Amino acid sequence: MKSIAKNEPVFPISVVAERLGISEHTIRMYEREGLIIPYKRKSGHRLFSQEDIERIECINKTVSEKKISIAGIRRLLALIPCWEIKGCGGDKYDCPAYVDYEKPCWLHKENLKGDCATNECRECPVYNSIKSCDELKSLLKQYIEKTTI
Ligand code: SF4
Repeated sequence: MKSIAKNEPVFPISVVAERLGISEHTIRMYEREGLIIPYKRKSGHRLFSQEDIERIECINKTVSEKKISIAGIRRLLALIPCWEIKGCGGDKYDCPAYVDYEKPCWLHKENLKGDCATNECRECPVYNSIKSCDELKSLLKQYIEKTTI
């Protein structure tokens, strides 16, 4: 039997919801709020990979157990230094993703230039730099250190 790669989008939203014990509505809300980017078929149907499922599980835990709001998680994701990961020099010009502390770069898509305007954010190392709760935790730790200095 062919094994499924962790980043291969094969699970429909109903399966993800059932596996995580959350509603499809919650998953769609995470998408609307820019915390996740599911793969979309031409038909508009969303598909999720094992990595997506782990990301959603982590977001859901952070919201329900750590009492961090969705806006709080979005602000954390806005701290990912996309200009460093991509080496695009966004800090040297007026890139909206560089100057904003509210939304991660992929939520600025329509105002971005260069390959950011055309790349699939879902496949980008910036979006994929936070795949697990450990990575989200370390971002949260950096944020706490920054704001308490
Ligand atoms: S391709 Fe998308 S996720 Fe990657 S740096 Fe550009 S806007 Fe951000």
